[in-house]
Amino acid sequence: MSQSECIFCRIVRGEIPCAKLYETGTVLAFLDIAPVRPGHALVIPKAHHATILDLDPGLGADLVTAFRTVGAALMAATGATGFNLGLNCNASAGQLVFHAHWHLIPRVEGDGLHLWPSGAYASMDEMNALAESIRARIA
Ligand code: 5GP
Ligand code: ZN
Repeated sequence: MSQSECIFCRIVRGEIPCAKLYETGTVLAFLDIAPVRPGHALVIPKAHHATILDLDPGLGADLVTAFRTVGAALMAATGATGFNLGLNCNASAGQLVFHAHWHLIPRVEGDGLHLWPSGAYASMDEMNALAESIRARIA
């Protein structure tokens, strides 16, 4: 999708309204239009990057500052005692908007939202072999 059609680029340019929470030269945060919980926010880099795999690592500090600032404010405003920070990378992981973004979801004890189900490895050998395979691709 081109940047002219990307819905989040259009929000950054002010062509589509949003409930804005936070803005710097590089990062924007606004409320998700279909919240898991009231206060569910999105943090996006202003520049168009389809997924996190395309993102400039130099944006890391700006993004972490946004997560901390918006996360603390949305807890204070909603009475939440915590929040989940998550990102969907690619369609198989549930990504619908291909402009990289993070979800900040306010949480309270016992709210019934279960992230994520626990699984298991068949053995420690299986786990260690997979770790070795991943490490080999990082090196
Ligand atoms: P994804 O599944 O790509 O990680 O999440 C995309 C999110 O963007 C969804 O939670 C959806 O509700 C939100 N969203 C989609 N279009 C709009 C919009 O026009 N405005 C706002 N504020 N949120 C949007
Ligand atoms: Zn975009």
